[in-house]
Amino acid sequence: MEFIADLHIHGKYSRACSKELTIPALEKWAKVKGITLLGTGDFTHPKWIEHIKEELNEDGSGFLRTKTGFPFILQTEISLIYSQGGRGRRVHILLYAPTIKVAEQITEALKKRGRVDYDGRPIFKIPCKEIVDMMRNISEDIEVVPAHCWTPWFAVFGSNGGFDSLEEAFGDNVKHIHALETGISSDPMMNWRLSKLDKINLVSFSDLHSYWPWRLGREATIFGIEPNYKSFLKAIRTGEGIKATIEADPAYGKYHVDGHRNCNVQLEPAEAIKLNNICPVCNSPLTIGVLHRVEELADRKNGFVRKDAPKTYHLIPLSEIIATVLQKGIATRAVWDAYNPLIEKFGNELNVLMNVSFDELKQVCDERIAKLIIDLRERTVKINPGYDGVYGNIEGFANPDADEEKPKREKAPKEKTPKAKKAAKASKAKKDLSDNKDKQKGLSDF
Ligand SMILES: [Zn+2]
Ligand SMILES: [Zn+2]
Repeated sequence: MEFIADLHIHGKYSRACSKELTIPALEKWAKVKGITLLGTGDFTHPKWIEHIKEELNEDGSGFLRTKTGFPFILQTEISLIYSQGGRGRRVHILLYAPTIKVAEQITEALKKRGRVDYDGRPIFKIPCKEIVDMMRNISEDIEVVPAHCWTPWFAVFGSNGGFDSLEEAFGDNVKHIHALETGISSDPMMNWRLSKLDKINLVSFSDLHSYWPWRLGREATIFGIEPNYKSFLKAIRTGEGIKATIEADPAYGKYHVDGHRNCNVQLEPAEAIKLNNICPVCNSPLTIGVLHRVEELADRKNGFVRKDAPKTYHLIPLSEIIATVLQKGIATRAVWDAYNPLIEKFGNELNVLMNVSFDELKQVCDERIAKLIIDLRERTVKINPGYDGVYGNIEGFANPDADEEKPKREKAPKEKTPKAKKAAKASKAKKDLSDNKDKQKGLSDF
């Protein structure tokens, strides 16, 4: 069976998540998007696991199902913060579990090392190598997958707090690491440039903090597997059954090239290197993006193609395409008014983005929207790359969310520590939450 899976999810108890982010809301919007298998998110959180138990049923397959039969896999994300080799390390890790019982054993083991009730993605001072031992002591069917592996601040290869190899992070437990989540800012092609990753299976998921279709399923993995956890596990561990990944264009990610958001400085890696990675405006170190980091660690030239790799689709969420063409905010009524007829006619968003022809599309939407859908599908338009927390935008169009992305202060704040960075993120997220209330006004019910 084919599943279009988004297996990096958060729930309403995760920091910066909407209070309406529940299992029923996830199911509803997954259907609009065209996602057919979801991660539960946040199973270590005491209230969220109760919500999972209320909404989902186990049937022995390892897939949990809603009342209508929609499948979920038990999934959570934890943040590991510790020091190794005299340097602070910050790595986000995805965990997959075969049963609620095993999920609860994971939570119990983690509770001996810290609290789990303050965030859906709790923090532990546990090294990467040790977390694998901890999990394997509970069950060999738990899978550990490093999350959004290239993002600068919290990732196994991150320029700030990451490692130069999986071996350095996981030691001899690297043999139990079978897959990496490539994250929004990188795609499989970028990862192919590291011969060390040849045996690693590359997966893509959204890391959503809201259920809106411009977040849910923004990245996804298409599996051809039986509807059970064992079959999923085999796919993750051997690659057999991973048919394709759906990527946002990596340039569109918030950390693709180098720069400083507050200084309005955006630089390609080669330009940043010429400046010794120092910002020409504020003279402090630049936030090094994913492309730069890949260049640093790659042992192959750009353009290398991995043999027998799963197919990749590069897509931009439909709401963003419409917002870009109409030059309206992503959650405005005008954008929903163009979005809804496409979903009604063609079933779900991913079908619109991946399969429907130009002639069919233009019967239902503005011809410019139809053209941009096709151009993006065929990758004939350029994306102006994102940097230091600012999303990329489609060349030839202003970023419709540009107002939100403008720095609040002209002067660069002392925002170089992850703590300050997190605080800034949290305050933006608060704003996003209050924005969400307005956004819902434009919704039609599916
Ligand atoms: Zn994360
Ligand atoms: Zn600067």
